[in-house]
Amino acid sequence: MLAIAILVGAAVIALRYLPPDWDPREPLDLRAKPGPVTSLKLSLLARRPEACFAAFEASGLTLRRVPDRPSDTSCEVENAVLLPAGIRIMPLDPVVTCRMAAAWVLFERHALQPASRKHFGVDVTGLRHLGTYNCRNVYHAAAGRRSQHATANAIDLASFILSDGQEIAIPREWNGIEPKKAFLREVRDGACLWFNTVLGPDYNAAHADHLHLDMGPLHTCR
Ligand SMILES: [Zn+2]
Repeated sequence: MLAIAILVGAAVIALRYLPPDWDPREPLDLRAKPGPVTSLKLSLLARRPEACFAAFEASGLTLRRVPDRPSDTSCEVENAVLLPAGIRIMPLDPVVTCRMAAAWVLFERHALQPASRKHFGVDVTGLRHLGTYNCRNVYHAAAGRRSQHATANAIDLASFILSDGQEIAIPREWNGIEPKKAFLREVRDGACLWFNTVLGPDYNAAHADHLHLDMGPLHTCR
């Protein structure tokens, strides 16, 4: 009993003196360099949508909210926004949950653009996607399990357009020539740092032409 009391006391004291970079109670700053608890703060947004909107406000990033859309078929859209991308997204303005939007900001800044600069020396300026919201089940899932797309908690990426005009398309380049092949794998691996689930062509035939990213409860990167 005494040992537990000492541990709890130590934890309370430690929390009080944590530097802001290490304190999960500090609001998530999406513009700051990622720190040791950035991923933890991102995962905590799943249970606290209001903290997600506060993170955007604290970060000085504009969000365009969309009205909640109730559903009696488990396809509700709640706490959703238009994807706040710094690049051109085609089709325009897909609807995603706020926590998908937060993960996107981190992914674009700390995974997508660094991978493009490393392999091509230029930025990504656009991308084509295959959709975010779609009231459907997981492909091939037993017992009709709903996809994360059914609640706008996912996006499927198909190709990336660079500032020099090159377009790196997943179906064509996943097993294509270097450096495009290495770039796509680095984008996949970088996405795994910020999204809970990342599934690409290496996973199965249903993902042969895109990278699926979502913020659902499953943590997997394949
Ligand atoms: Zn998908």
